[in-house]
Amino acid sequence: MAKIFCVANQKGGVGKTTTAVNLAASLAALDQRVLLIDLDPQGNATMGSGIDKAACEHTIYEVLVDGVTLRDARKRPEAVDYDVLPANRELAGAEVELVGVENREHVLRGALAEVIEDYDFVLIDCPPALSLLTLNGLCSADGVIIPMQCEYFALEGLSDLVNTIKQVHANLNRDLKVIGLLRVMFDPRITLQQQVSDQLKEHFGGKVFDVVIPRNVRLAEAPSYGLPGVVFDKSSRGAQAYIQFGTEMMERVRAL
Ligand code: ADP
Ligand code: MG
Repeated sequence: MAKIFCVANQKGGVGKTTTAVNLAASLAALDQRVLLIDLDPQGNATMGSGIDKAACEHTIYEVLVDGVTLRDARKRPEAVDYDVLPANRELAGAEVELVGVENREHVLRGALAEVIEDYDFVLIDCPPALSLLTLNGLCSADGVIIPMQCEYFALEGLSDLVNTIKQVHANLNRDLKVIGLLRVMFDPRITLQQQVSDQLKEHFGGKVFDVVIPRNVRLAEAPSYGLPGVVFDKSSRGAQAYIQFGTEMMERVRAL
């Protein structure tokens, strides 16, 4: 049965999608069966996996709102070895349409049930908000991966997210835990980043992943080719770090 993880941080541009897409590719390269769920109306994980978000017959929106099955809506892009549940801007409407639905936080969880045996990992790329969509992600998941840049305000934003995770754990999903904090876009030459990284380790100890993802332009270029960095340029420093991250995730999951 699949282990389900959200990649979440309510800030935008902190590396969620890059992490979700590259972790999916990295786990697939380790022969894991992976489903990547795009839970962001921006559809960046969809495009970054090589799917044209404007040309999808079905998307996650219809799964959440219209009762289309996940089996019918998922896709296998040509260039990658994992499945994708695509999203596009229609998904923004789900936020409103779900409000009146019973058990509205658990709709995604319900939809996932039928495919859970098909995968070893389900990764959910969350939108940059603590919204009903993100809640659906958190209510479906066994754990949360939090990518973060080691910047001055990073720790401050973190407490809101950690509090939300605690509340979801207490009220909606007893299985939910923080799997780890992933330092991304890291530049060791910047003293402040080193300092914030040290603070993170003091505060969160073993919850900080060992792997550090460097700032690397190949990771930023890959989406414009519709490819994860790990597939686009496997030998780049960024890709190598995400490949290592896949191995570290496998170890953490074994220890769960
Ligand atoms: P989010 O999903 O949290 O909004 P993204 O993953 O889309 O964040 O990343 C924001 C931007 O930073 C994107 O343009 C992405 O290509 C770039 N980026 C992400 N990680 C790295 C990295 N390690 N090195 C260089 N650029 C990165
Ligand atoms: Mg994103």
